[in-house]
Amino acid sequence: MDTLLDLLNSRPLVDGEEQDALGDPAGGRRWAREHGGEGSLAELALLRETRDILRDVVRGERSPAGLSPLLEGVHQIPEITSEGLQWTVEAPPHARLAVEVVLAWAATEKHMPGRLRPCANGACQLFLLDRSRANRARWCSMAVCGNREKARRHYERTR
Ligand SMILES: [Zn+2]
Repeated sequence: MDTLLDLLNSRPLVDGEEQDALGDPAGGRRWAREHGGEGSLAELALLRETRDILRDVVRGERSPAGLSPLLEGVHQIPEITSEGLQWTVEAPPHARLAVEVVLAWAATEKHMPGRLRPCANGACQLFLLDRSRANRARWCSMAVCGNREKARRHYERTR
């Protein structure tokens, strides 16, 4: 679940300039390894592609069907264990992490529909997953975007 949000948020704006945690091979491979990946260049390329499609899908700018090519060649293998029925996802090694992210996105949409969304601050490129009961979170971070928005409204009221 957190890899999903981390991947979506790996292209933040910092002082108005976009940073990309997956932008250079060394940093990108480190990011992948820190999230349980193998750290290959093929994996990094796939992670970038997955991220950019997912960002459009979560923003509602692209059909979720755009994710389907990422699941080509992926299988689920059933196995009976002492814990009962277990499904193991089989994917090419370089694709495993990206596939896990797509599956995490699908599970989030199923179990928490509408709760993964873009930050309401138009000048912010981050996403949030609202786990609260009220389901009214609008900002990636109350401390950063929430306060900025409040200050902006205050300024408009008092002008
Ligand atoms: Zn934000």
